[in-house]
Amino acid sequence: MKIAILSRNPKLYSTKRLVEAAEKKGHEAVVIDHLKCNIEIEKRKPKIYYIDHYLEGFDAVIPRIGASVTFYGTAVVRQFEMMKVFTAVESVALVRSRDKLRSLQILSRASVGMPKTVFTNYSKDVDHLVDAVGGTPLVLKLLEGTQGLGVVLAESKNAAKSIIEAFNGLQARVVVQEFIEESGGADIRAFVVDGVVVGAMKRQGKEGEFRSNLHRGGTASLVELTDEEEITAVKAARALGLGVAGVDMVQSNRGPLVLEVNSSPGLEGIERATGKNIAREIIKFVERHV
Ligand code: ADP
Ligand code: GLU
Repeated sequence: MKIAILSRNPKLYSTKRLVEAAEKKGHEAVVIDHLKCNIEIEKRKPKIYYIDHYLEGFDAVIPRIGASVTFYGTAVVRQFEMMKVFTAVESVALVRSRDKLRSLQILSRASVGMPKTVFTNYSKDVDHLVDAVGGTPLVLKLLEGTQGLGVVLAESKNAAKSIIEAFNGLQARVVVQEFIEESGGADIRAFVVDGVVVGAMKRQGKEGEFRSNLHRGGTASLVELTDEEEITAVKAARALGLGVAGVDMVQSNRGPLVLEVNSSPGLEGIERATGKNIAREIIKFVERHV
């Protein structure tokens, strides 16, 4: 097979690992920077012009699209779809997963557990907002945030009120969320490929930090998922239509609750924590579908 890895940087761990795993299985892997692709559209002749030539003969594409270039990156993935090239993550699913609010709405319909979440455009009635998520402390999240930036714990109603007002003053969109205290600053990342959990890790925030993101100083370790956690992760990936997904959950008294589903989940943390060859699982998934 000839596989395109859509990535802005061939030196990134995840990109290198995917190329390595593809080549090990006898495939040709080409790293393509989606921002250097021209999308050519005319009747029945979808084409992609890359730097100085047309892309031809590809059997599959594995998108690794950063959050800041979702619009253009997904347009390139869509163009590959028009050219009848198999994609490990479909463009519609990618777009869906990048909108946290839309994702939670879809997950809720699919009966996936989540912390109770309220989105508002009207911040005058903070009392009701606070009551709706079970009182304080509560979590406030910027809709566009990643890597734990823009996730804030409000200890009191007054704090919640000032933060909501501040965010609104900046025209930033926020969600208010029930705080799951019993998760103890930890979360679980389940890596799902083709409807199966291929690896899972627990991330623990550093001392005194409720956010477990590795970017915020959290540490990762191998974890054995309960049946319920495994089912929840698979259900979440399926509901969003993602062939490859990183499902983040917190453990609560009422079972696993999904925080978000990542459509370009990093391989470094999960491969190091589990000692598993996750890149090979993604290549095997592509092989099964081409
Ligand atoms: P981001 O997309 O920026 O990583 P998340 O929603 O995943 O934002 O939140 C970052 C981290 O904060 C999570 O990994 C988790 O450890 C913690 N966290 C987020 N929401 C909650 C919550 N409702 N209750 C408890 N902890 C939470
Ligand atoms: N983009 C990274 C991932 O999906 C974020 C990791 C983190 O949450 O710290 O793995």
